[in-house]
Amino acid sequence: MPCGLRGIKAVWGQTVTFICGLWAMVALLSCSGGGNGDEMLPSVTVSIPPLEYFAKAIGGDSLRVISLLPESADPETFSPGVSVMRELATSKMFVTVGVLPFEDAMLENIKSNNPDMKVAVVCGGIDFIYGTHSHEGAAGDDDVHEGKGEPDPHVWSSVRNARIIAGNMFDAIVAAAPQHREYFKRRYDNLVARIDSIDQSVEGRLKGCHGLVFAVWHPSLSYFARDYGIEQIAFNVENKETSPVRLRSQLDYARSRRVGAFIVPAGIDKDKVAVVATGLGLEPVSVNLMSADWERQMFSVIDALIGEPATKTQHK
Ligand SMILES: [Zn+2]
Repeated sequence: MPCGLRGIKAVWGQTVTFICGLWAMVALLSCSGGGNGDEMLPSVTVSIPPLEYFAKAIGGDSLRVISLLPESADPETFSPGVSVMRELATSKMFVTVGVLPFEDAMLENIKSNNPDMKVAVVCGGIDFIYGTHSHEGAAGDDDVHEGKGEPDPHVWSSVRNARIIAGNMFDAIVAAAPQHREYFKRRYDNLVARIDSIDQSVEGRLKGCHGLVFAVWHPSLSYFARDYGIEQIAFNVENKETSPVRLRSQLDYARSRRVGAFIVPAGIDKDKVAVVATGLGLEPVSVNLMSADWERQMFSVIDALIGEPATKTQHK
């Protein structure tokens, strides 16, 4: 993504006071009543746009779904506006990934300002990957993942993980609006079938690509790579300035592995990735892994991986 989540906790720390103020304002706004039929639906707030895909797929017409972060938001600088906080305050449930630092800050606020709100996480049951990513202060770092470092937080960028996320999302939504359980269940079953179909499609397209290696600016596809036995080589692991030494060693390694694609976050400054692109002889391909269109994310990744190479440059 411009995952750029590292360091966000500090930013959130600075905005905690701001958020508290918003909660007070939200309480007043929430009492104003009114609204159309859509606003009368039970609602859940999800922390990031990709979770919207799963919530809407299950919730259909019987659930209102709001994402805390809009697609265009930079998680490092994002502060929730009044309307978002109002939605959150009126939501039946706050659904988080469970391993993103900014979610921690939000939960602290919810505990003190809206203690009755239900909170769910969707990462339960996922087999975490460690050592591919670093986000200081990630949730659970001190207890759950002791000795392993922080889990790679990009759990949603994986078709196999999506099945688990969908199951956890179903449980959360049913808890938020149990009166629609049967309706949600039918839609959940359809969603699982759809995820299985995407999985088969991706697997089919990767057939014959055994040993495929791809480069990414930020390591946002560790789970996707694991799903299909392919290799991801990342350049910007710490999400801070990549040192010339690391850049050179990664480039040397990537060249030796004959990388076939270079995926960069949507919206990234092309100058930032130019050295890598030139070094690999590949045109960077943008993929928005923070999009609410999760399906499109997955197909964009596979298109980038096995599409026609943008250049014919030969690597030594
Ligand atoms: Zn990241």
